[in-house]
Amino acid sequence: MNARPYWNMEMESLLGSERMREIQLERLQRRVDDLLVHAPYFAAKLTANGVRRGADIRSLDDWSRALPPFTKLDYRDAVDARDNDIYRFLDDTLPVPLSELVTMAATSGTTGDPQPYPLTRVDIDDMWGEFMLRVRWRCGVRPGDRVIHAFALSMFLAGVPPLQCSRDDGTMVIPIGAEPGAARVLKTARFFRGNVLMCTPSLAEHLIERAPEILGAPIGSLGIHTLICGGEPGAGIPAVRERIETAYGGKLFDCGAGLGVSCAHPEYQGMHWIGDDLAIYELVDPATREPIPMTDGAEGEAVFTTLVGGGFGWTRLSLGDVHRVQVSTCPCGQSGLRYRIVGRVDDMLKVKGVIVYPAAIDAVVASFMPRVTGEFRILLDEPPPRVVPPLRLRIERGEGTAASDLPALEADLIRAMKERLKFTPVIDWAEPFALPRSQHKTRFIEIAGR
Ligand SMILES: [Zn+2]
Repeated sequence: MNARPYWNMEMESLLGSERMREIQLERLQRRVDDLLVHAPYFAAKLTANGVRRGADIRSLDDWSRALPPFTKLDYRDAVDARDNDIYRFLDDTLPVPLSELVTMAATSGTTGDPQPYPLTRVDIDDMWGEFMLRVRWRCGVRPGDRVIHAFALSMFLAGVPPLQCSRDDGTMVIPIGAEPGAARVLKTARFFRGNVLMCTPSLAEHLIERAPEILGAPIGSLGIHTLICGGEPGAGIPAVRERIETAYGGKLFDCGAGLGVSCAHPEYQGMHWIGDDLAIYELVDPATREPIPMTDGAEGEAVFTTLVGGGFGWTRLSLGDVHRVQVSTCPCGQSGLRYRIVGRVDDMLKVKGVIVYPAAIDAVVASFMPRVTGEFRILLDEPPPRVVPPLRLRIERGEGTAASDLPALEADLIRAMKERLKFTPVIDWAEPFALPRSQHKTRFIEIAGR
């Protein structure tokens, strides 16, 4: 029983199949009927596009045409238009009555506006809860395991909701949260012999540093065999993965930005989308908002529509992330197409019509370490997205890189940018550690005169 590959053999075996598309369509038609009844905001848009009942959506392609993607800006406009009354907004946009909501979580969002994540009982049991169980099973969490839950508990979607979702799958959850700090997390993990750790990748890294002082022993002494990380990028970055897995002596999984989790393949393959029956996952062109076909290497803004529950209210919702997908079978053999986060829609640059994301430039620069330090800036004359070529990059040379090595390094870097990102940069060299360091999310872009 414990050797089966998926928590939900019935549904997870069907991911990506024709039968799954039928299940999605049936559920979507019911969802559209619910929106027409309960969500006047979407009902007005649907009827304007000729959709008067669920059955009018006859294919998943029809869905892409039925509603435009709902973005962060749409969210802000819609809340503003309702005098900043979040319940009026939810009442007008959710496919269920507000009386069905049992929990309110939120994310802070990059701009500081909290994005609400209300949950109904069905979300807890059958949507978010089902997803969490699938994640844990794919990550090798089994009956008898003790899960240290060290995501921030206050409001955070990955905080209390996963605890509410815990079911009798034979595992025990130890809800510490991130708030008490590293020392409490480490001591509690040791005292209660937790062997699975769920937290942000930055906390996982911080615990490595603190363990010798707090525990008198390296982090590997805890016997944590599995880490499930999310809430921020990091668990998909090769250098971070190696550092965490080596220090803990356990396997690291990356989870989030949709219903996905990475697999146990030694090389990071992106996250498998494991919830076709729970939500429709689409890609759209960030500029035109037209659908992008799901093919190997396709890139676009990720758009989600939940099919189960209702509090989440993902109705062609964009979280502002740009994903790249692989639909061919993963070398690990598990089901579910894979996606990687390429960047944020807000950070998009356009160089002569070629779309480039700072995170993609970061990945190319990082692949040249230690010839470079990894730190760089994108120098722009005006605010993005439009860039008048050439795109200028200020890159720090590595400590061991002599001035005489720079021409060859520059040629290699330019070639790599051209091959992998399809643009030719101009490079300004900076001394090692000359660029200011930031504790927080790195801001790669510098605009002249600001
Ligand atoms: Zn895989």
